Amino acid sequence: MTDDAMTGPAPKPGILDIAPYVGGKSAIAGVAEPMKLSSNENALGAGEKARAAYEAAIRNIHIYPDGRASKLRAAVAEHHGLEEDRLIFGNGSDEVFALLNQAYLTPGDNIVTGQYGFLAYRISALGCQAQVKLAPEPGYKAEVDALLEQVDDRTRIVYVSSPSNPTGSYNTAEEIRRLHDALPSTVLLVIDEAYAEFVAEPDWETSFPLARDAANIVVTRTFSKIHGLGGLRIGFGYAPLAVAEAVDRIRLPFNVSVAGLDAATAALSDEAHQKASRELVQTWRPRLTQAIRGFGFEVLPSVGNFVLVLFPDEKRPASAANEYLNSKGIIVRPVGGYSIHNGLRITVGTEDQNRAVIDALSEFAAT
Ligand SMILES: *Cc1c(COP(=O)(O)O)cnc(C)c1O
Repeated sequence: MTDDAMTGPAPKPGILDIAPYVGGKSAIAGVAEPMKLSSNENALGAGEKARAAYEAAIRNIHIYPDGRASKLRAAVAEHHGLEEDRLIFGNGSDEVFALLNQAYLTPGDNIVTGQYGFLAYRISALGCQAQVKLAPEPGYKAEVDALLEQVDDRTRIVYVSSPSNPTGSYNTAEEIRRLHDALPSTVLLVIDEAYAEFVAEPDWETSFPLARDAANIVVTRTFSKIHGLGGLRIGFGYAPLAVAEAVDRIRLPFNVSVAGLDAATAALSDEAHQKASRELVQTWRPRLTQAIRGFGFEVLPSVGNFVLVLFPDEKRPASAANEYLNSKGIIVRPVGGYSIHNGLRITVGTEDQNRAVIDALSEFAAT
């Protein structure tokens, strides 16, 4: 055989330039049950109602799911006061981003997001052979003017997450309105509200009402965080009808599973679990922040279920803190993938987990 005959098919240009996504790690060698605080999962797990629905779904796992997600669609529309026809369901909100990218980006188009914008937006955009234009976030927060400066005639989608991961910052309702007002109506504005339920700040507002009357806004939510169903992969977007209809043409027919649909529908009605999850975060987020600041590390103000800790001291870098936490059985998230090499993102955990983090960082500060 010649060398030529051995050459396999080449992926589309650019595919192999995409850095593979590295998820939060979930194991430490030699530790049976590590504390996993690396992926912003719900420290309380899923609620009783969702678990019961998941278990009951065993009866139906030989049946294809309802491709229109009718029950969940009705429940979400009712819960948030939204029009059913304008909802897009995905295998996690990650799939909603991918579908939007696939439906709107041609090679050479671009998306705009903040410097620390969520990686999921970018990966599938690159897969569409689009460019990713990043607006500087000097204050670890997306800035309206900096985003607008990146917008050009090939920009098709602007992505903002509010609250934002990994920084924990948010954009006020006023800022979101100003961004939308300044964008051409042909550019889609995607507002990712994955952490909406954890916010307490009065100048943050959901963008559902803004989206209702706009031709170019998509607001996304997820069942992975407040509802504790990250493993089942369910998210949704609230979109203009024309966008929802476009996406529906390329969506795989059965993209959300039977068990996922049933568990998510049940989770939505479990107000007690949502309340407990929110209260746990709102109680411990400030305690973690203050305690860790007290050890001399920088903690960015966060409105999500996590904090981003910066280790500016070269003698005690983030990498050493990460190793120290690992040695105590605690897994957190290095954020080098966002080029924040001196940072660690730590999910707010249960009381015991948070105390373990505080103790470990206190000891680390004294090393
Ligand atoms: C966790 C997270 C999501 C949710 O993703 P799913 O695919 O729904 O699990 C979306 N956006 C951001 C910024 C997140 O951190």
